[in-house]
Parts: sequence; structure tokens; C-alpha cells
Amino acid sequence: MILFNRYPGGKRRAVTMSFDDGYREDEKLIEIFDRFGIRGTFHINSGLLHRDIRVDADEVAKIYKNHEISAHGFTHANFDELSESEIRDEIEKDLSELLHLSGREVHGMSYPNGKTSDKAVAVAKSLGIAYSRTTVSTPDFSIPEDFLYWHPTCHHLRSEEAAERFLASQVGGELLCIWGHSTEFERDKNWELIERVCEKLGACEDVWSATCIELCDYVCACRALRISPDEKMIENPTDIDVWFTVGGKTTCIKAKETIHI
Ligand SMILES: [Zn+2]
Repeated sequence: MILFNRYPGGKRRAVTMSFDDGYREDEKLIEIFDRFGIRGTFHINSGLLHRDIRVDADEVAKIYKNHEISAHGFTHANFDELSESEIRDEIEKDLSELLHLSGREVHGMSYPNGKTSDKAVAVAKSLGIAYSRTTVSTPDFSIPEDFLYWHPTCHHLRSEEAAERFLASQVGGELLCIWGHSTEFERDKNWELIERVCEKLGACEDVWSATCIELCDYVCACRALRISPDEKMIENPTDIDVWFTVGGKTTCIKAKETIHI
């Protein structure tokens, strides 16, 4: 039986770090991520970067160069209080400004204040958003069924307990998704919390530290494989190498490859 319980390199677990609003403290958080080999995703309201508490607009490309830049609504308005055209405006303006500031196409998002609706999801989808994170903690290690309703494992305040539980679990293919705001570490004087979590996760060779879009793309590639009814032939139509286990053995099917097992 084919099980999709492995990540790139045959790793057994994946971690995503998803931080909102583009606060100035993102720079310090990135320094910690880089020290421990952790990739981060940063959801930015590009219409609010003139505020002192946010990163400077002209430094966006530099600060986030090794990490994912993602959308969060142009002005952080709650999507569940907006009309369809207002939601479209909030997302479109954010995507276009983030492209202008970073030179990168953005396909990820988190909902402002975690608030979403079927209407917001439909608009996001129509604008090419591949995933969008809520603030509803699961608090388990499951993969989102629908990436436009991506419920994270937990807020960063609970990340240490979650990381210990995650690393102790023997179930393959699990995902730990931590969300939060970098400015809270400064406010709560608990930077050492995220340092300890990153150190533990970064030291585990079985952990794939991915940006949210990398995780989403990888899982979508797993779901796009074409498997014959007897599971003897697999075709990978995607551009991404996919890892899985069959009969307990870890196997890789390369991008665009067809294999017989
Ligand atoms: Zn926010």
C-alpha cells in the first residue's frame, strides 16, 4: 500500500513557521530562523508599511530574501465584514504591492485576524492564491484537506509543548504549523522560547523545514500523482520530486517520471 508519509529527502516530518503583519521584529526572528536553518513565511499588509511598528517598505526584499513573502490583505481589514469586491481589492492591491517591493510573485496568504468565509475563499482562489492560513488551532499535526482553509497547529506561545509532542510522535508525514507575531516576543520578553523551539526542530535531521508555499506545492504534487488501480504504476505529472513509502520502503518518484513498483 502506498502511503504519502514522507517529505523531500525522505524526511518523516515537516514544519512551517507562519508569522503575520510584517512587524519590525521580523528581522530578529529571521536572524533566529537563519541560525537554526529554519524557513519562515511572513504575511504582510503592504498598505501599512508606513507605520513605525512595521518593516520599511524599501527593505522588504532585503529582510525577507531567504524566506517566503506572503499576503495578509492590503490594510488588514476583516474579510468577513467586506463585500466581494472589497475583498478582491484588499488581496489584489497587496499582491501587486508585494510584487513591486520584492520582485516575487506571491501565491500565499493568511486571513487578517484569521477571519474567513466561503466568499473570501472563492475570491482568493480566483486571484491565484494557493493557500491561506486561519488562526484556528487544530492543535494536531494533520495536513490541510483544503489549503484555503489551512488551520495551524498552534500559536507560538504553545509551540514548545507542540514541538516536543511532534518530535516524539512516530507517525510519518505529520506537519507542525506554528503561527504568531514576532512583535509578541518583544512585548512578552520571551525570545528564548522561539530560540529553543527552532534549536530543537533545526537539530532533528528528520524534519523538513519548509515555507508555507513549499509545503503546499509538495502536498499538491503528492495529490496529483496518477496511480494505477493495482498501485503498480505511478506517473508524476508535476515538476516536483515526491517521496512515499510502499511496503515500509521509502521511494522517490522524480518530476515527470513514470515508475513501476
Ligand atoms: Zn494580522
